[in-house]
Amino acid sequence: MADVKQENAGREPEEKSGKETRAKGISRRDLLIGAGLGASGLLVAGGTQLVNNLPDFAVETLINSAVANGRKPSYFADDAIHVITTGTGAPLPDPARVGPQTVVVVGDQFLVFDAGPGSTRQLALTGLNLSAITALFLTHYHSDHINDLGELMLQHWTSAGAVEPLQVYGPPGVEEVVAGYVAAYQLDKGYRIEHHGEDVMPPSGFGGVAYTFDLGDDLMSSEVVYTAGDVEVIAFNVDHPPVRPAVGFRVNYKGRSVLITGDTIYSDSLIQHAMGADLMVSDALNHKISQMVSDAGKDADNNLSTVTEDIQESHIRPEEAALVAAEAGVKKLLITHVLPPVPDLLINPFLRDARAVFPGEVRMANDGTMAKLPVNSDEIIITELLR
Ligand SMILES: [Zn+2]
Ligand SMILES: [Zn+2]
Repeated sequence: MADVKQENAGREPEEKSGKETRAKGISRRDLLIGAGLGASGLLVAGGTQLVNNLPDFAVETLINSAVANGRKPSYFADDAIHVITTGTGAPLPDPARVGPQTVVVVGDQFLVFDAGPGSTRQLALTGLNLSAITALFLTHYHSDHINDLGELMLQHWTSAGAVEPLQVYGPPGVEEVVAGYVAAYQLDKGYRIEHHGEDVMPPSGFGGVAYTFDLGDDLMSSEVVYTAGDVEVIAFNVDHPPVRPAVGFRVNYKGRSVLITGDTIYSDSLIQHAMGADLMVSDALNHKISQMVSDAGKDADNNLSTVTEDIQESHIRPEEAALVAAEAGVKKLLITHVLPPVPDLLINPFLRDARAVFPGEVRMANDGTMAKLPVNSDEIIITELLR
């Protein structure tokens, strides 16, 4: 088993409530406000009452510190795979989680997986320069995975004036999706160039360019879809009925590896492609809790009951993800795409069956959870960037 240690100075997420987190006042989150977010972000994060009582010099110092930290995140300097779950929610509204997104930073590679609703803002709060994104990979075209594509392409262009469009990799369908968002943002493109000038907003950097990979119908198939130096990204088919195609990704770097399942049910493909991975970032739907939500919503005048029952056939259960991880020799399991939404109080019940079948750590990811996998090591170091 890996030597797992935790750098997070805060408490375990299971012990936290969102209310407690927000009440802490100026925190590490405040100091991570990205360049350009400055005062407005600080007011929101720090609490209006607190800022109102600060003298001007203190406000200025905090803002300077926030912007400086936003420009120079030091988290990513080590020779390691850095995996950040910037969005850990799913299609159903969740006050604590935005839509699905996982980010991998390794060396000069800044790889983004999916663009769920709200994820671009969470990503910006990590302090990373969004114009430096080297590629976006899409797992499938359910709206909760592409909803923020337009915003991500826009921020990739505008944050620091990218001169090339965002590279977007995906299975067949990616060209149509990218073209749709590019079309929807054409008017805004014009406004921004007119407002800030072409030096600040180079027209060549607007939008995205689609790169299609086709793994065919064989559920076991996979291929390397991206390489850069020692970084390799493998796409593999997953089973996410009724969606075809749907893929997961594995990132390998200097003997360390992370598996991003995408949306899937339990399958042999998942086990095969997870084999020997250090970290598995997995979709999960707790069937017992989902059924409770469905039953509780039976009399409501909406589709909640039907939808929460239907989606049970499209997503892996936490205990099944744990079984895959155990069979594949994965060292650590990070649960994301949390369905149905649960408050922190219910995280332990959500993960209980998974923890019973996996010998390593099963952890619920938060928006901003970072796992660092240093090379020449078995360590997996967890840090919370946004709490
Ligand atoms: Zn999804
Ligand atoms: Zn899906």
